[in-house]
Amino acid sequence: MEPYTASTVVTSIKEDGNGHWHTLENSPFYAEGGGQPADRGWIGTLPVLDVQIKDGEVWHLLSESLPTGKAVEVRIDEDVRRDHSIQHTAQHVITAILEDRHGIRTLSFGIGETDSSIEIETATMDWAHVEALEQEMQQLIFENRPIRVYEIPKEEVDRARLRKETDRTGMIRIVEIEGLDYNACGGTHVETTGQLGTIHVTAMKKVRGNLRLTYVAGNRAIKATQQARAALRTIHHTFSTTNESVAARVIEEHTIRLEREKEIKTLEERIAKAKVEAVLKEDNYVALHVGRTEAETLTTAIIERIAATGRIAVGANYGTQKLFVMHDGTQDIAVGTFLKAALQEMQIGRGGGNHKQAQARFTSVAELEKGIEEIVKRLQEGVLPC
Ligand SMILES: [Zn+2]
Repeated sequence: MEPYTASTVVTSIKEDGNGHWHTLENSPFYAEGGGQPADRGWIGTLPVLDVQIKDGEVWHLLSESLPTGKAVEVRIDEDVRRDHSIQHTAQHVITAILEDRHGIRTLSFGIGETDSSIEIETATMDWAHVEALEQEMQQLIFENRPIRVYEIPKEEVDRARLRKETDRTGMIRIVEIEGLDYNACGGTHVETTGQLGTIHVTAMKKVRGNLRLTYVAGNRAIKATQQARAALRTIHHTFSTTNESVAARVIEEHTIRLEREKEIKTLEERIAKAKVEAVLKEDNYVALHVGRTEAETLTTAIIERIAATGRIAVGANYGTQKLFVMHDGTQDIAVGTFLKAALQEMQIGRGGGNHKQAQARFTSVAELEKGIEEIVKRLQEGVLPC
């Protein structure tokens, strides 16, 4: 295994918008590449924010610059390195099993902050298939097979066994999982398959006619399982369900909700009709409707109906602290411009709109009430912007 700490010297520095990049005489840091993120760690007391290879040199990103020629202690974050090694080695295992036993090729992969993904050359895969794959991987983990990493000259590489042809020359770094995988790879790996702990596929998504599997291994798999269990516990607690009954119950609840929404819509239409009829009895050029407890959709449905009668409709909803001004297009006033200017003068709320529709939002009900009063007054008195 590579050392986690070392003593070395800063050899050069450059600066860009991201911060201060440093090269070292000897770097134990893994630079981002081959689908694996960069190591984290410290140079002196400064955390290493990124590691990239550019023009054959390893550059380390720090928030400040260190003097060149100065001896520094460098330390790799062992937990992050270990985690990346687990996720990366897990990818070797998934790729090898899918290709050798299922005839499905890996097209690309990447390790992310919380989960990793692998794009595979198949249009579909069902969850039963994924579960079978997980069992096969777990068996290989239980067998605790050794993983060997060594360098040999290119002529000695067993090309026929190689997972993927390499265009590198000279010494080739081989990563070999006993009886499973023989790969030219520059990434970091664990020493045995047992160190992977477990590998879980957490999601599947179709991409460009292929499939992208999202997976987690090691501690990430344990965390993902704990999160899923916590989420499920909340559902069980809320609906008094068990693992066996939860799916049926959730579908039932969803169906009931859709039916209720339909009923509510019918009721809202009736309420809107009644409220509009009441407003029409008064012969006002500006008609106001204030919704104190109703949903915003009902408020807007009511004022749309009022506006359709040729009046200028002003609506307010206490729940969302919004104010609406609307007409059917037959009025001369551009309500968007009017509302924006009025709010600016009052120095409350924010909003605007077009010729026949406008809305504003306030930060409190008190502000909304002040807004309603002033807007209605201005519209009634014809205090309109030029
Ligand atoms: Zn590798």
